[in-house]
Amino acid sequence: MAPLIIQDTTLRDGEQTAGVAFTLEEKLAIARALVDMGVPELEIGIPVMGSEEQEVVRTLLALKLPARLVVWGRAHGEDIAAARRCGAPCLHLSIPVSEQQIQRKLGRDRAFVLAAIARHVQDALDLGMEVSVGAEDASRADPAFLLQVAEQAQRSGARRLRYADTLGVLDPFTTREVMANLRRHVDLELEMHAHNDLGLATANTLAAVLAGATHVNTTVNGLGERAGNAPLEEVVMALRHAGGRETGIDTRRLPAVSQLVVTASGRPVAANKSVVGEGVFTHESGIHVDGLLKSPLNYQGFDPAEVGRAHRLVLGKHSGAHGVSAAYRALGIELTPAEAQLILVRIRRLAVSEKRAPSADDLKRFHEEIASWPLAC
Ligand code: MN
Repeated sequence: MAPLIIQDTTLRDGEQTAGVAFTLEEKLAIARALVDMGVPELEIGIPVMGSEEQEVVRTLLALKLPARLVVWGRAHGEDIAAARRCGAPCLHLSIPVSEQQIQRKLGRDRAFVLAAIARHVQDALDLGMEVSVGAEDASRADPAFLLQVAEQAQRSGARRLRYADTLGVLDPFTTREVMANLRRHVDLELEMHAHNDLGLATANTLAAVLAGATHVNTTVNGLGERAGNAPLEEVVMALRHAGGRETGIDTRRLPAVSQLVVTASGRPVAANKSVVGEGVFTHESGIHVDGLLKSPLNYQGFDPAEVGRAHRLVLGKHSGAHGVSAAYRALGIELTPAEAQLILVRIRRLAVSEKRAPSADDLKRFHEEIASWPLAC
């Protein structure tokens, strides 16, 4: 089976997030980090935005990173010309394909869209660029017209069709059907571009791969328009563990690249964000901690070491005596079962009143308190 190719668009769609803008240095650092971890393709910017963006694109291209770098444009002459001015070898040309956007955004009709694909793909090819055609709002398009678009892209010499669920309205079942249908009709590379408005971007990306998509778009931390894009860290780990597909990405580097993008974007990730959230390998409840202490596999879907992390046990309201005893043992203190129970009461009180786990100093203080109060039990 051909390897599945990740095309990360943190630097293009990720930066399109309202209020997010990267400096040149940040873009270079993110690009290097992504390529170092094995991401084979990056979408790096939109040349037609102007001379500053073109300078960023030129600088990124000059790094000669061992990855395929792609620039984004609309199916417009000026977008193609701007890409050319940057010396971009690969151009993605986006054009609306839903009736809504064809009529009410472009003010055109289907024939115009097909003709625009033919003309602009040819123009870009003539300038020596490799071309991918982006079917914008494909998930709201007439399926029959979408096939015409795909066939037109293929006839015109594009190497790839991007299926954009621009508004994130797809579900995995429909995704699998439409992607399989495209797969049957054209020999193009097929790329899935999922948005997360319904929280289904990763699921839809996985479904597209199962149906024959050869490429998928991601962004680090799921950064992107509105609810964002399919998160790189989720897609890679879900493909490995739920889809049986490897992507060639060094997953141990995911937390570091996540942190880099948090800093550059000013967008933190939630504590419970899959794979990279601070709390996703942290355990408190008595039942889970006891189970993990007996065997990590009891409560481990995948080994946190795969993403360079480790289980962390914390004490709190839901702790049990085993977890308390283990925490004290780590401090060199052996508790009797009765002591563990007494201390558990204090830990629960602190967790409720201060909304945090006890520190090592808290634990030592609790121990001194009960030790100086021997008649308590
Ligand atoms: Mn998008």
